[in-house]
Amino acid sequence: MQTRRQFIQIVPVAGATLMAGREALANAKLDENDAQAKALGYAHDATKVDAKKQPKWAKGQICSGCQLYQGKAADAWGGCPLFGGKQVAGKGWCNAWVKKA
Ligand code: SF4
Repeated sequence: MQTRRQFIQIVPVAGATLMAGREALANAKLDENDAQAKALGYAHDATKVDAKKQPKWAKGQICSGCQLYQGKAADAWGGCPLFGGKQVAGKGWCNAWVKKA
C-alpha cells in the first residue's frame, strides 16, 4: 500500500515523464511516408517536388518561407501545425504552403 508521502513523490515524476514524451513527439521529424505527409505532397527537399503532380508548387516556395512554419527562417527544421507540430524541413514543401506575411 502506498503512503501519502510515496504518492506525493510519484506524481511529479509521472508528470515530468509525460511532458518529456510530449516534447519528444513535438521534436520528432515528419516522415515523408506519413499518410498525411503523402496526402499533402510533402517533401523534405522542395526541389524534388514533382511539379506535374503538384501544380501548386512554384520555385522558391519552401517551408521556412511558409506562414505556418514555426521555426526561424534560418532553422533547418521547424514545427508545422498541419502535422501535429512535428518538425518539417526548412527546405521542404507541401501543397498547403502559404507565403509568410
Ligand atoms: S504547411 Fe507550410 S510549413 Fe507546413 S509542411 Fe506545408 S509548406 Fe511546410
